[in-house]
Amino acid sequence: MSQFWSPLVHRLTPYVPGEQPKITNLVKLNTNENPYPPSPRAVAAMQAELGKDGATLRLYPDPNADGLKAAIARHFSAFNIAPAQVFVGNGSDEVLAHTFMALLKHEKPILLPDISYSFYPVYCGLYEVEHATIPLGERFEVRVDDYARDNGGIIIANPNAPTGHLLSLVEIERLVAMHPASVVVIDEAYVDFGGETAIALINRYPNLLVIRTLSKSHSLAGLRVGYALGDKVLIEALERVKNSFNSYPIDRIALAGATAAIEDAAYFETTRQAVIKSRGALVAQLEELGFEVLPSGANFIFVRHPQRDAAQLAASLRERKVIVRHFRLPRIEQHLRITIGTDAECQALIDALKEILA
Ligand SMILES: *Cc1c(COP(=O)(O)O)cnc(C)c1O
Repeated sequence: MSQFWSPLVHRLTPYVPGEQPKITNLVKLNTNENPYPPSPRAVAAMQAELGKDGATLRLYPDPNADGLKAAIARHFSAFNIAPAQVFVGNGSDEVLAHTFMALLKHEKPILLPDISYSFYPVYCGLYEVEHATIPLGERFEVRVDDYARDNGGIIIANPNAPTGHLLSLVEIERLVAMHPASVVVIDEAYVDFGGETAIALINRYPNLLVIRTLSKSHSLAGLRVGYALGDKVLIEALERVKNSFNSYPIDRIALAGATAAIEDAAYFETTRQAVIKSRGALVAQLEELGFEVLPSGANFIFVRHPQRDAAQLAASLRERKVIVRHFRLPRIEQHLRITIGTDAECQALIDALKEILA
C-alpha cells in the first residue's frame, strides 16, 4: 500500500502464476507445459533470425506480424480463415487482456464459470468489467443452458481449466447461437489435446472469438505467442487496443519461431499424439492407485484421492521432487491438477505416489 498507488492498483488482486522453480532436477507437472521440445524447424528459424551477430535485432519487428498471421490463416485454410480474421499477441494472456478491454467491457456483467482459468476474474478487476459466475455442474461440467440470461459477454475455456472438461462443438454452437448480441469467447488453450475447435463456426457467427496459444500444444510457453480468430470487426477492436498499448508485442525471434512452428504440422501431430497416449496410460495407473480422475480433453488431468488430503499429497510429492498444482479454492481444494509429462516423468509420479500411499 502506498500513497503513490492509484485507487485501481489498491483494488487489484493480481494473478499468481504456477511456480517456476529455479532447481532443475524436478519432475515439473504443475503448469501444463509440453514435455517435448518445440519443432526443430522452429528452433532453426529462430537461430537463423538471430544470425551470427544478431544484426536484425537492431530493427523493430513487423508491428502487424503479417507473416505470422498469414501462416495461421493458411494453417486453418480448411475453415476459410483470412489474415484479417487473425489477431496475434504476446501469449494468449495478452490476447485475453485486450479482449476484456475491447470486447467484454459493457454495461451488463459478463458470464464465466465459477471454476475456470483464474486469470479471467483478474482481468475483470484490471479493466473494471462486471462479472457473474455460473456454477459448474456436479461433475464439473459446463452446462450451456445455465448461461441463458442477459449478459455483456461470455468467456469459457474449452477444454476447461483446471478440470479438463470438454464441450462438444454442438454445445459450443448452441451457446454462441443463443447469444447473438454478445461476444462469446472460447479459450482453446488445450483444444489440440482432444477437442474439436470452434474455428469451424467463425464464418457463420460474427459474435464468436476463439483464442489459442502456442504455449501448450506447440511447446513454446517460453516464446510468448498467442492468437485470436474471429470476424474482422472483432479483430479490428483488438488491433485498436493493441495499437494503443504496444505496437510490437511479438519480437523478431518470436515471429520467426512461431511461424515455423505453425508450419511444421507433422511435428505438431507427433508430439500431440504422444501426449494424448501418455494421458491414457497415466489415467489407468492413477485409477489403479484409487484416484478418481475426471475425463480430460487437455494435457493435464484433474484428480482426487477419496482417502487422502490433496494439499498433503502435493507436499509429499514435492518432497520427492515431483510438483503438481493444488488450488486452495472452494469446491476444488481436494483436487490436484497434474500435467501430462513424458512417460518417464509420469512413471516418476506413479512411483512417488506408490511410496506415499503405502
Ligand atoms: C495457459 C493458458 C493460457 C495462457 O497461455 P499463454 O499463451 O502462455 O499466455 C490461456 N488460457 C488458459 C485456459 C490457459 O491454461
